[in-house]
Amino acid sequence: MGEEKEEEKKEEKKEPKEKIKIALYWAATCGGCDIATLDIDEKILDVVNIADIVLWPVAMDFKYEDVEKMEPKSIDVCLFNGAVRNSEHEEIAKMLREKSKVMIAFGSCACFGGIPGLGNVANREQIFKVAYKDTPSTVNPEFVTPQTEMMTNGGEKLTLPDFWDTVKTLDQTVDVDYYVPGCPPTVDRVLDAVGILAKYAETGELPPKGAVVAFDKNLCDECERKRDEEKKIKRIYRPHELKEIDPEKCLLDQGILCMGLATRGGCGARCINANMPCRGCYGPSPEIKDHGAAVLSAIASILGVEDETEMIDVGTPEEVEELLNQVKDPLGTFYRFTLPGSMLKRVIIKPEKEGGA
Ligand code: SF4
Ligand code: SF4
Ligand code: SF4
Repeated sequence: MGEEKEEEKKEEKKEPKEKIKIALYWAATCGGCDIATLDIDEKILDVVNIADIVLWPVAMDFKYEDVEKMEPKSIDVCLFNGAVRNSEHEEIAKMLREKSKVMIAFGSCACFGGIPGLGNVANREQIFKVAYKDTPSTVNPEFVTPQTEMMTNGGEKLTLPDFWDTVKTLDQTVDVDYYVPGCPPTVDRVLDAVGILAKYAETGELPPKGAVVAFDKNLCDECERKRDEEKKIKRIYRPHELKEIDPEKCLLDQGILCMGLATRGGCGARCINANMPCRGCYGPSPEIKDHGAAVLSAIASILGVEDETEMIDVGTPEEVEELLNQVKDPLGTFYRFTLPGSMLKRVIIKPEKEGGA
């Protein structure tokens, strides 16, 4: 008994393990991924128990200079959300990569380019024209646009990051170790990521490089709606065009474009459960290289475009084309979250004249 008490005392006196250091950064982002991190509620205390936060611009007043002064690899884990859209994002991504042992692309924007990546349908000149000339949020008759350098009246030089033509994913910028997809990642998957951090803090063990914190099956496998395996679409609808959406039946069978059939599972089918189609924010299912092309090919097979002998149910090529024409904004539909990370990467914009954009 006495010996047991001695052991208990020794246990109490055991030195706490050294906390891991984590950095959270946002690049081209809406802020939703940072909010998602806070959505884990009291579990955030688990993070605080195992980790010291050394950078979190959205929540704490750290300076980049402080991180710059840190030794290489002195941060254990960096959770990087947002796409890489300007020179500052790239500079900070490279700095955090140098200082961090583990780099995690957190959220669809960092993983695939996300919603900011749809900017790749245009270039800087076109985006500035829309934002500062055609639809400015303030009176701007002289079409003033952001400059990378300017002198104030007091003679002080101010600088702004250089806005690029093309949005990039994090792994097109620096080496990435792990991916947490989702726009934003769901609470369960954020907790999975916290679990990985906790295990790392305790044992130093990490998953294999390149691991994706989501499921290795596609969303249709997670979805409980009834599917018609012989489905053929006769008409494509947008959700508001249907008087009623059957909550039990596959949305695709009802003519609503749902990207679940080529999208990685792991979100709990949260949009489907709200009677809305999947837009693909978890990115492509494993083994799929190009998300948009995979969805397009799957939809094409349902339309009967792939195998002409199958087309008798659907109609002539003209009818099939008419059906495809019902897809409003095909690029924004099929590549909503993945354009920069896709094989297309961006829309090629021909210069209007020699030497132009
Ligand atoms: S992934 Fe979605 S929630 Fe996260 S920053 Fe990008 S747009 Fe916002
Ligand atoms: S296509 Fe969409 S609605 Fe149909 S089973 Fe797959 S995830 Fe569910
Ligand atoms: S249903 Fe699709 S769009 Fe909605 S959260 Fe899941 S993966 Fe993202």
